[in-house]
Amino acid sequence: MQYYSTNKKVAPVSLQKAVIDGLAGDRGLYMPERIPVLPASFFDEIDTLSFQEMSYKVADAFFGEDIEPEILKAIVYDTLSFDTPLVKVKENIYSLELFHGPTSAFKDVGGRFMARLLAYFIKKQGQKEVNVLVATSGDTGSAVANGFLGVEGIQVYVLYPKGLVSEIQEKQFTTLGQNITAVEVDGTFDDCQALVKSSFMDADLKAHMDLTSANSINVARFLPQSFYYFYAYAQLKKIDKADSMVVCVPSGNFGNITAGLFAKRMGLPIKHFIASNNRNDIFFKYLKTGEYLPKPSVSTIANAMDVGDPSNFARILDLYENSHEAICADISGATYDDSQIADTLKNVYTETGYLLDPHGACGYRALVDQIKPGQIGVFLETAHPAKFKDTVSEIIGAEVKIPERLQAFMKGQKLSVPMSKDFESFKNYLLVK
Ligand SMILES: *Cc1c(COP(=O)(O)O)cnc(C)c1O
Repeated sequence: MQYYSTNKKVAPVSLQKAVIDGLAGDRGLYMPERIPVLPASFFDEIDTLSFQEMSYKVADAFFGEDIEPEILKAIVYDTLSFDTPLVKVKENIYSLELFHGPTSAFKDVGGRFMARLLAYFIKKQGQKEVNVLVATSGDTGSAVANGFLGVEGIQVYVLYPKGLVSEIQEKQFTTLGQNITAVEVDGTFDDCQALVKSSFMDADLKAHMDLTSANSINVARFLPQSFYYFYAYAQLKKIDKADSMVVCVPSGNFGNITAGLFAKRMGLPIKHFIASNNRNDIFFKYLKTGEYLPKPSVSTIANAMDVGDPSNFARILDLYENSHEAICADISGATYDDSQIADTLKNVYTETGYLLDPHGACGYRALVDQIKPGQIGVFLETAHPAKFKDTVSEIIGAEVKIPERLQAFMKGQKLSVPMSKDFESFKNYLLVK
């Protein structure tokens, strides 16, 4: 299958090139030239398949032409070494828990898949060393870094906004060592993302080193995120509740929801999507006005969604052929400030005993605010609440327990390279590498 750029100013490329390059030469995002529709038989039997089995079928529809079956199967099975259970929170409202992976956030799925696929392609190309640049608002850095840790031939640079990620998030990518370098940028997530994008466009850097990106702009990261939408559906089908499924996605860079939109195009019967924003409401405003006006991100307690210019908006526009009307027909928006997010988290905990994280709380709130009678709602619980221990403990007035998996990270020693947000400093740093 070929992959074209959303800017359509460069020729389509192979999967291998799309994965290795990350961003297209015209700064566009790669899109698969076709979205395969899965057969009715797949949906009929979906509730009899394991998460890994159904995900392999989804992966095969996209990547089957380009990767040998046994290799693709191994990558999928290896990536999904953990479950994403659907948990009932209250009548007709379900949490799709995406935090049971190694770094306790949904980004483990895309991060692990991409790490494995990239390593495979690099080996196939006979390349010596590839440098992966990844900007993070908190959770991407750890998922990608942990996915690539110790992989030969890959150097990872995690760019993160100084002081704007939680302590546990920071520890998850600053303590690893080996082939992982944490770059602590004196700026916001948008500044980090801009540094990554500028690096790809820079001729000197290109001549000096092979660069690729692991942000959700990379097709190998965002497409695998469609797996768990199918799995959510299968879990509802098992209890005879899959007929009218609405999915709410707490959104920042919009990679996660875009994967859901792809799942729908592949035939998954999702009635409607809700994109829930924190105060960074660019998409919410776009739905209201038809105008996309990026602006600098503001920091919130749902920090992984603090994005002022969501990358994957370009993919959504492309998917809907720039039709504002068509986008509004499939997706509605929502925006909540910190106090609304905190109230939701606290109330749900008091009333049901279910502990949300701030991102999940944003998703939960939009879902209960917008769900219609007869619909079954699923919100994506994108991270474990203990990743935001201080915030969540303060909101509920009780200490949040840290699971062992996360405790292990806290013991390491933080190591990072301080960096200003101007591109010349970052470029010079990479040039001496
Ligand atoms: C990254 C992240 C989000 C936002 O996901 P996008 O794909 O960027 O929209 C939401 N919640 C958590 C916990 C995250 O880490």
